[in-house]
Amino acid sequence: MAFINENFLKLKAGYLFPEISRRVTAFQQQNVEKAARLIRCGIGDVTEALPEAAIKAMHEGVDELADRASFKGYGPEQGYAFLREAVATNAYANLNISADEIFISDGSKCDTGNILDIFGKGNRIAITDPVYPVYVDTNVMAGNTGDADTNGAYEGLVYLKCDASNGFVAPPPAEKVDLVYLCFPNNPTGAVATREQLQAWVDYAIANDTVILFDSAYEAFVQDPNVPRSIYEIAGAHQCALEFRSFSKHGGFTGVRCAYTVVPKTVTAATQDGQRIALHQLWSRRHSTKFNGASYPVQKAAAALFSAEGKVQVAALIEHYMGNAALLRDACSAVGLEVFGGINAPYVWVGCPEGKTSWEMFDLMLHEAQVVITPGSGFGAAGEGWFRISAFNSRANVEEVCRRITTLLG
Ligand SMILES: *Cc1c(COP(=O)(O)O)cnc(C)c1O
Repeated sequence: MAFINENFLKLKAGYLFPEISRRVTAFQQQNVEKAARLIRCGIGDVTEALPEAAIKAMHEGVDELADRASFKGYGPEQGYAFLREAVATNAYANLNISADEIFISDGSKCDTGNILDIFGKGNRIAITDPVYPVYVDTNVMAGNTGDADTNGAYEGLVYLKCDASNGFVAPPPAEKVDLVYLCFPNNPTGAVATREQLQAWVDYAIANDTVILFDSAYEAFVQDPNVPRSIYEIAGAHQCALEFRSFSKHGGFTGVRCAYTVVPKTVTAATQDGQRIALHQLWSRRHSTKFNGASYPVQKAAAALFSAEGKVQVAALIEHYMGNAALLRDACSAVGLEVFGGINAPYVWVGCPEGKTSWEMFDLMLHEAQVVITPGSGFGAAGEGWFRISAFNSRANVEEVCRRITTLLG
């Protein structure tokens, strides 16, 4: 008899997106005519075509594989040197991160989950509420939590409440934690942390011997030059923080798959008997054993995003989405809703009209405006009373969504 990992049975059965799709499907079946005008602003997925530079580089990569003389088999597990160097010199210029501290992968979702392989049992783990559900569920699977309570909060996790009073940026807790997940610019709230707020976190981490797992998948959307894009802009972070980044939102690569994790050689954690071990050594070993590298044409395409043309094309893509975000923010503000995010992030986080829950707002928008949004409560109890609108869409769709919000709530 084979036994299962019973931690999986503690998981809340993937409630949010399946429930959204159940309600959308039911609506479509009952309202065939209205269903034709449905606009989806729910899932955080890009919509626009890949940048030219990436397409060209990917084609070249395939052509190299098509010729025996330039063919490549397995590449280095940690990523090709050309891409690791391109990341170090472009994404981390002057931030003292070397190419061999950058580990290329096929996605940040996997990296933020897989990182738990190198941490032991018994760590006190903090997450924000609301949160990107991957951080929670991977800790449940790894056995780092107890059961969920009726609000969906897991025993053993430290929840850092984010709300309008703290601008959806949690300060460090009074208690000591060993690991903390931070995500800025944030999914789902679109909040960004200031330099001072991140410095408070790094100071906390150094004082409490905490490792910060910093997800900056949305750094490319930061418009304000004073908002940090990387945790390594903060003094002391090279001692206590790992950073996850992805080409998914940066270059529209959600379907291409390429990301990277930065593990400075100076970040260590302890054995049970107090010896300090570099996380770099463990993550490198994990990559070699469980991963065989991202594909060559994909890594070529990712590197091309850092070429002169690539940078211009990426900037245009970001400008498109951020133009959408500005329109959505304005439309929601104009009808008197409370609006966060959407300035340095592709998500607009909106307070529901007085007295409406997140799911009531979801149903209202679906039935009366045929716009799919994401209920904030799906990201954690503190998201109740809020909803997320994604700016990933065509301009025409966003303009239409704005008109419908004005008609419905104006
Ligand atoms: C989209 C996203 C990522 C990127 O995930 P990939 O697996 O690289 O596509 C990472 N973190 C957050 C919070 C995201 O929303």
